This record gives sequence, structure tokens and C-alpha cells, in this order.
Amino acid sequence: MAKSLEEVHPVKAVGWASRDTSGVLAPLKFSRRATGEKDVQFKVLFCGVCHSDLHGIKNEWGMTTFPIIPGHEIVGIVTEVGSKVEKFRVGDRVGVGCLVGSCRTCPSCANDEENYCPKLIFTYNSTDFDGTRTYGGYSDVMVVDEHFAVHIPESLPLDAAAPLLCAGITVYSPLKFFGLDKPGLHVGVVGLGGLGHAAVKFAKAMGAKVTVISTSPGKKTEAIERLGTDEFLLSSDKAQIGAALGTLDGIIDTVSATHSVAQLLALLKSSGKLVLVGLPEKPLEVHAFAIVGGRKTLAGSFMGGIKETQEMLDFAAKHNITADIELIKFDYLNEAMARLAKADVKYRFVIDVANSI
Ligand SMILES: [Zn+2]
Ligand SMILES: [Zn+2]
Repeated sequence: MAKSLEEVHPVKAVGWASRDTSGVLAPLKFSRRATGEKDVQFKVLFCGVCHSDLHGIKNEWGMTTFPIIPGHEIVGIVTEVGSKVEKFRVGDRVGVGCLVGSCRTCPSCANDEENYCPKLIFTYNSTDFDGTRTYGGYSDVMVVDEHFAVHIPESLPLDAAAPLLCAGITVYSPLKFFGLDKPGLHVGVVGLGGLGHAAVKFAKAMGAKVTVISTSPGKKTEAIERLGTDEFLLSSDKAQIGAALGTLDGIIDTVSATHSVAQLLALLKSSGKLVLVGLPEKPLEVHAFAIVGGRKTLAGSFMGGIKETQEMLDFAAKHNITADIELIKFDYLNEAMARLAKADVKYRFVIDVANSI
């Protein structure tokens, strides 16, 4: 006889869920699986608020199954480990990002790129191996296979480290993969939100000269004085853009709104690389001339693997990189979501989960 959900999922939990397309978040009692032999269970202390959470709670991508408990920038302290767990002990600082499962056998998994596994299981709004829904870190407790958990280095504050688990790895991975991590290169960052501000910090720490490209003139002071950006390009300023044509080795484009990719390609040197990490809704318009002339690369990148996520955190610890955050309690979450929709945050909301659930 099939086991009841209570038998399979005996761990009582509470989270903040959206129940319909209004996207309004409110507390929901649910349950998680018992800690399996390769699992770690942890008390969630902080969880970052990613822009994808906002899309998810309103079903703006058409992929949401309600109720949805978002959150994939999760940090906490291990409270229980399964008998075959090797990486963690009770009391360890632990983090979980965007994925909690993958097939572990396909070429991507074998190459430590679980993020490109065709069977990857997202941290929330996915179907887990046992057929149940996954729920994210806007909740008090997580149970996860240790393979998909990472160590948060001691020197990083847990709250400001949380956003590295999605925003951080999403920009770190393409900087590495596309060879934009070499000192002396000139790297552009488009968009100065959660991802963009992390991209500036990582690219600077890798030794690049960094130029922020933005539609908002108001962000210039911010970019240069607060984040240490070398140059600022206003994308509507034809003279500025004209003077910068052909100067960049690579660009990390974090923008999810419709924008001109052609303009960005023109800013690249020959053999330069434009890497998209944002997800505009409409198809891009690119003329072949824009990439054929100059042998340019137009590419994309999606999160990062678990091994690389650990590497990114260790790099962040070495270079004192954390996200700039605004710490909030759950009772402010709906207001925070409304502000996030207007890009009114510098640069990431993080929920003080343990003190407000
Ligand atoms: Zn995210
Ligand atoms: Zn796989």
C-alpha cells in the first residue's frame, strides 16, 4: 500500500506561500521528508528574495503550481544529518541555491554542471523524485540531499551571503566559463540590480576594468562611488556609446526587459562575448552582421553547478564579496515584492526568516 504523505513527509514546516495569481504571500503549514541517509536537515536563518520569486508567485511565466513557497537563496545551520552524509555535520553553516536534485548520471551532471541536467529539480515549484512538490526557503526548515548543499565560509555574514547562491553564481559562472575572469580585461555589466551589482563585484575582484551600462542616469554615482565601477555608460547617450564602440572584451547582460542587443554587440572588441543571463519575454532581434563582423559571440548562461557554487563562495570569502542587502521580516514581504517589481531595492531583499516566521 502506498504510504500517506504524513508518513513520507513527517517533518512539520511553515512557510510563506502564494496561493493564486494575486501573488499575495501568507503563512502556510506544510511538511518535508524525513532526513534521508544522504540528506541534511537545516534551520533556515535567511533567504534572499530573487526576481524569479516575483514571477513565480504571480505565475507570470505560466509554470507555477499553487501553492508556491519561493526562495532559492537559502542559508541556515545544519540540525540533522543522515547516516551516509560526508560533507556536513550538525552545526555547520549551510546554503542551498536554485537546485535540489538532478539525475547525477547525464553528461552535464558528470561534468559538475547539474544546472544543465535535463532532469534538474528546482528548489521550489518543481516535482521532486518522490512525486511531491518542492518548496523553497521562505520557510523555517529545509531537507536536502547533501550534494546540493554548500558550505558558507565562516568569514561571510550569512544574511549578505544568501544572495550569492543565485545572483552570485549566475554571474560568476559565465565570467569564468567565457574566460572573462582574466586580469586586465574590460568587462561590461548591463543592468544594476541584484545580478548586476554582484557581477560588478566579481569582475572587479577578478581584476577586470568594469563598465556599467544602464538606462538610468541616476545610477552613475551609485555604480562608481558605492560599487567601485570604473566607468558608466548611459545607453541612451549616443555620444557616450559612440566613444565606447569596440572597447569591451565581454559583457554580462542581466536585463530581463526588452533592450537592444545590437548596441551591446557593437560595444565589443573583435572576438568579444555578450553573455545573456536575463530573460526578456520577447525574442531578440539580432542581425547576423552584428556577430559575423568581428567574430563575436552571443551566448547565454543559466545559474551554475554545485561544485562551482562552492568555488564562487570560497572566492567571495577570499575577496570579501557579499551582496548589498536590505534585511526584512516576513510581515514586510508583500510590500518588499511590490518594491522589487519597481526595482526599488539596493540590491537584494533578504528575509530574516528565523526571527520572523
Ligand atoms: Zn534567483
Ligand atoms: Zn543529469
